[in-house]
Amino acid sequence: MFEVANQPPPLDPYNLLTSDACLREAVKREQAGWAADGLSTLGATLGKPETVKLGFDANKNPPALRSFDRYGHRVDEVDFHPAWHELMAIALRAGLHSSPWADPKPGAHVARAAGTYMLTQIESGVYCPIAMTYGSVPTLRHAPDVAKAWLPKIFGRDYDRRFVPVGGKTAALIGMGMTENQGGSDLRTNTTRAEPAGDGAFRLYGHKWFMSAPMCDAFLILAQSPKGLSCFFMPRWTPDGERNAVHINRLKDKLGNKSNASSEVEFNGAFAQLVGEEGRGIPTVIEMANYTRLDCCIGSSGLMRQAVAQAIHHARYRTAFQKKLIDQPLMENVLADLALECEAATALTFRLARAYDEDDEAAQVIRRVATPAAKFWICKRAPALTYEAMEVLGGSGYIEESIMPRLYREAPVNSIWEGSGNVICLDVLRAIARTPNAGEVLRAELNTGDARVKTFAGKLAERLAAPERNDEAQARTLTRDLVLALQAALLVKHAPPAVADAFCASRLTGDSSAFGLLPRGIDLRAVVERAAP
Ligand SMILES: Cc1cc2nc3c(=O)[nH]c(=O)nc-3n(C[C@H](O)[C@H](O)[C@H](O)COP(=O)(O)OP(=O)(O)OC[C@H]3O[C@@H](n4cnc5c(N)ncnc54)[C@H](O)[C@@H]3O)c2cc1C
Repeated sequence: MFEVANQPPPLDPYNLLTSDACLREAVKREQAGWAADGLSTLGATLGKPETVKLGFDANKNPPALRSFDRYGHRVDEVDFHPAWHELMAIALRAGLHSSPWADPKPGAHVARAAGTYMLTQIESGVYCPIAMTYGSVPTLRHAPDVAKAWLPKIFGRDYDRRFVPVGGKTAALIGMGMTENQGGSDLRTNTTRAEPAGDGAFRLYGHKWFMSAPMCDAFLILAQSPKGLSCFFMPRWTPDGERNAVHINRLKDKLGNKSNASSEVEFNGAFAQLVGEEGRGIPTVIEMANYTRLDCCIGSSGLMRQAVAQAIHHARYRTAFQKKLIDQPLMENVLADLALECEAATALTFRLARAYDEDDEAAQVIRRVATPAAKFWICKRAPALTYEAMEVLGGSGYIEESIMPRLYREAPVNSIWEGSGNVICLDVLRAIARTPNAGEVLRAELNTGDARVKTFAGKLAERLAAPERNDEAQARTLTRDLVLALQAALLVKHAPPAVADAFCASRLTGDSSAFGLLPRGIDLRAVVERAAP
């Protein structure tokens, strides 16, 4: 037998809140200090070896479609591994699906963001129905009858895995169906029809090419009604207690996100109720998209945090060439650069989350302009970061028993759904053009007194004021630079000088085309130590 040597211990058990200085500070800074104790309890639960194992089990045992019962009746149910249900129960108990709506108060969206940031580090699949349910509430309020009947269930924290009509359940979850086979970004191409049933309700006929978490209790669906594209609420059971005519054709075989089911569905006269004004479906459902886009930032920042925590932990214990990896100068540069990216993403995500707790003009601008911008850049950085963090673990990082392959496979999805990269950058251009005081609010946000940020922000302001700002081909560059400016301003204001200096030196000037290119003169050790779990 060979001797097992020079291997790190597992990172767990650990507390995902108390071991994360950047997260702790963000929670306090963005007005959710009151939630710290509850978040610490959640952080400890998520960091237990048995919870970590649930994430592995749920991914090793993906959901399976059961179309018919033994007698041949259609059932259209999806079976999940018990680990999935246990993780869902943890998430609902913590209120991650609806707490800011059930108990609104300053910092409520920030507190919920922090819980979700931690959850997604341990398992990202469950995050999908959690995010959609969270995002659905403002849209549902456009249908007062639906809201009255359903919100008490959506606020429920006692996860109910049963597939039964909502009246008998302790909690309900909401999904959404917009994307069709012939078009996802261009929703105007939707062909699903909504026919008035004569009793105020509608019947849906058509399909959706992606409808994730099909075991949610109800869905927000876009469909063409007599007055144009409209938003509908479609429960999985009709008010008469029958299974609604929602037929799941198959489950997608996805790159990652394995624990979660994403389905192709057909509607064969499915019962549905109108939400909002008929013919105004896109603006109605877009309200939800802003929240789910915030969640894409939370999800990708969380993935990055887990990757950085695992990488630094490994490098602390593993020796190569007579030194711990963390003490090898070049590895220190790579780790510091990874930590930097994660801290910038996290700081911006939590700044954004605070804008969802506030309702003044500045908050509205930040929400409308900075949400899609941050979604673009943060989600784009996650695949690159999870890959580089995997390499820190050497060959072991490529092996499924480490969490690294799962993080890496999960990383691209947040960039694709809820507005893929290009579409989201074009939305940023639209948001800047249509939000009258965007320039003024962004200027105030970027005003730090720091010369490096001032120079970068000044050039950005010139570009934003020039007619070329509407050049679609340059939308990615403009969006990236807006995010870098926001991140730099936040780090200069709130992070230790070593972090802010490293960010400005590599992201505002210098080269960040790969990780580990930080220039000389940066306190690499301080940046890594701050991020160490
Ligand atoms: C795991 C997963 C789960 C999902 N779950 C759901 C769900 O629950 N509900 C749901 O409705 N959808 C869901 N989706 C679908 C997702 O939202 C769409 O795939 C996405 O919106 C893109 O639409 P599309 O696939 O039709 O691509 P297309 O619209 O064909 O776009 C293809 C590419 O072209 C780019 N593009 C489009 N227009 C332009 C333009 N004008 N200029 C430049 N580039 C452009 C896009 O950015 C994209 O990169 C899910 C997707 C995945 C991968």
